Amino acid sequence: MRRVIHWFRRDLRITDNTALWHASTDAEEVIPAYILSTWKKGHRWTGPNRQEFLCGCLESLSRNLKAAGGRLILRTGDPVQELEQLIHETNAQAVYFNRGTDPYSIQVQQQLQKTSEKHHFQIFGYKDTTILDPDEVLNQEGRPFRVFTPYARTWHQKEKPSVLPIVRALQTPAALYSLPLPTLEHWGLISKTRIIEPGEEAARKRLTDFLNEAIRAYREKRNFPGERVTSRLSQDLRFGTLSPRQVYFGCLAASKEASVTVCQSINSYVNELVWREFYMQILAHFPAVLENDFSDEFSALRWDENDSYFESWCHGLTGYPIVDAGMRELNATGFMHNRVRMIVAMFLTKDLHLHWRKGEQYFMQKLVDGEIASNNGGWQWSAGTGADAAPYFRIQNPWTQTKRYDPAGTYIKTWVPELRGVEPIKFTQPPTERLARDYPMPIVDHATERLEALNRFNRARR
Ligand SMILES: Cc1cc2nc3c(=O)[nH]c(=O)nc-3n(C[C@H](O)[C@H](O)[C@H](O)COP(=O)(O)OP(=O)(O)OC[C@H]3O[C@@H](n4cnc5c(N)ncnc54)[C@H](O)[C@@H]3O)c2cc1C
Repeated sequence: MRRVIHWFRRDLRITDNTALWHASTDAEEVIPAYILSTWKKGHRWTGPNRQEFLCGCLESLSRNLKAAGGRLILRTGDPVQELEQLIHETNAQAVYFNRGTDPYSIQVQQQLQKTSEKHHFQIFGYKDTTILDPDEVLNQEGRPFRVFTPYARTWHQKEKPSVLPIVRALQTPAALYSLPLPTLEHWGLISKTRIIEPGEEAARKRLTDFLNEAIRAYREKRNFPGERVTSRLSQDLRFGTLSPRQVYFGCLAASKEASVTVCQSINSYVNELVWREFYMQILAHFPAVLENDFSDEFSALRWDENDSYFESWCHGLTGYPIVDAGMRELNATGFMHNRVRMIVAMFLTKDLHLHWRKGEQYFMQKLVDGEIASNNGGWQWSAGTGADAAPYFRIQNPWTQTKRYDPAGTYIKTWVPELRGVEPIKFTQPPTERLARDYPMPIVDHATERLEALNRFNRARR
C-alpha cells in the first residue's frame, strides 16, 4: 500500500507495537494519528492525573516518532469522524489499530468498521493490549471462565505471540495539519499531584530496573506497602508505553539464570499479569459488570448513603491509619499499593456499607493506572460481588492487616504526617484516645460494622 494511518490508542510506544509494526511494513507512508477526547472537567470516569500522564506520553511518543522519521498527527473530536476526515484529506487506503477489549472501544471499532465500508477504506485491527485475546482462553465448552485458577491454567498452556522490533524508518506525508501537543488545559483541568514519569523511555527503565532487582523479592514482599518492591508498571500497561509481551518475555528471560526461589518470585509476578488479562476477559464477556454485580447472589444487598463517611474516606480522615495512608497516597500521587487498595475498598464496602460503585468511580477519577476492567474487578472482588471474589464472610480487619503488612508503620508515617511521632503498635489496635491532636478518632468501630456487614450479606442471600 502507498499510504496508511496508524491510529494510536492505548499503545503509546514504537517498540513492539503490533499494528504500527504491520502498518510500517505494509505501506510506504504511515500517518501516526492520535485523536484527543473532547470531554471537559467533571467527567465521571477520569481526572487530571491520567490526563497529565497522557500528555507526557504523547510528548515522548512524538519525539520517538520523529527520531524514526515520522510525525505524530494530533486531532480532537469523535475518533471515527476524525479518522474519516484524515482518510479524506490524505487519500490513505487503510486504518491500522490495536483492538481494545472494553465495551467503549468495541463500540468505536464497530462504528469504524461501518464507516470504512461506506467510504471504501480498509481497516486492520490487531491483538496487542493483552497477550491473549478474551476469546482465546475459553473453557472446554467454549465459554468464558468465571474463576481465575482454571483461567490461568489454560492461559499458561497457550502459545504467546513474541515481541516485535522497534519501528525505525517511518515516512509521514509533509504539510499535514496537527494540533500542538496537549496540556491539561485542553480538558479544562489543573493538576496538583506528583505523578510518576510518563513515556516509553521511563517505562522501559522501570521494567529493566524491576527485572534486575526488585522482582527477586516480589513474592516475599509484594504485600508490604512500605517496601516498594512492586513493579510500578500498571500505568505503562494501561497506556501502552510498554506491551504486556515485553513484560512477560522480560520475566521469562530473567528466570533463565535465576535460582528456584527467584523463579518462584517471577512466577508470582507473572500471575498478576494473568489477573490483568482475567479481568479484561471478564469485562469483554460480561460488560454488564460495569453497572451490576457480577454475581447475582447478593443483588438484594442493602447499601447505605452517607456523604459524610464518603468524604472522610476520600480525604483520608477515617481515623484508621492504614486506610487514611492509602487514600492520601492516592490523592497525592495518583497511585496506591495493591494491598492497601484491597484494605480501603473493603473498608468502604464492609465497614462503611457504601456501594462499591462509589469507590470504583473515585478510583477512576484519581488513579494514573485507572483501567476499567482491573478497577471494576478489584472493587467487586473486595466487595464480595465479583468474579472469583473474596468470600463475603472474609472481611479484612484494618488493624490486623496493619500488624501483618506495615508493622513498623513505615507506610503510614510516609503518608499521614500527623502520626509520625506515634508508636507503630498503636496503628494495630483500636485507640482509646486520639493518636495525635490533629488526627480523628475512628469514624466507625470495625468489630460492630463487621457483624453488621455479615448480617446484611446473610439477609441478602436468603
Ligand atoms: C480496588 C482495586 C482497584 C484496582 N484498580 C486498578 C486499576 O484501575 N488499574 C490497574 O492496573 N490495576 C488496578 N488494581 C490492581 C492492582 O492494585 C494494581 O495493578 C497494582 O497495584 C499496580 O501496581 P504495580 O504495577 O506495582 O503492580 P505489580 O504488583 O508489580 O503487578 C504487575 C502488574 O500486574 C497487574 N496487576 C497486579 N495486580 C493486579 C490485580 N489485582 N488485578 C489486575 N491486574 C493486576 C498490573 O498491570 C500490574 O502493573 C486494583 C486493585 C484493587 C484491589
